[in-house]
Amino acid sequence: MTTDFEAQLRGASLRVTGPRLAVLSALHEHPHVDTDTVITLVRAGLPTVSHQAVYDVLRALTDAGLVRRIQPAGATARYETRVGDNHHHVVCRSCGTIADVECTVGHAPCLTASDDHGFAVDEAEVVFWGTCPECAASTTPR
Ligand SMILES: [Zn+2]
Ligand SMILES: [Zn+2]
Repeated sequence: MTTDFEAQLRGASLRVTGPRLAVLSALHEHPHVDTDTVITLVRAGLPTVSHQAVYDVLRALTDAGLVRRIQPAGATARYETRVGDNHHHVVCRSCGTIADVECTVGHAPCLTASDDHGFAVDEAEVVFWGTCPECAASTTPR
């Protein structure tokens, strides 16, 4: 699958810049990473990019809807380029690893609120918490 990040930026009326392309491609290759990891990944290709520049790029891309920011309770914010499909996440309580969970019914919102209080609900964001296979294996008593 090829992904045209330049076209995505233009489609969102954002100027095409090196740091923006680098952040999109880093998140495409490494979904659900935090800001520090994005900085490390971007600097692998663009060593002179400042922390602040990466923060600014993440904010611009998130505001434009090209990047989704997820923040499980008690964890640092993570970012991904998979947007607009209302998928959910399963988070490891122990190491913080995040994996995608497909929308339960394939369209948003994939849950029906037991009481919507009269709101027109269009999205449900679910975080499943648990222990990932690696952590489960390392804590299993012998
Ligand atoms: Zn884990
Ligand atoms: Zn995801």
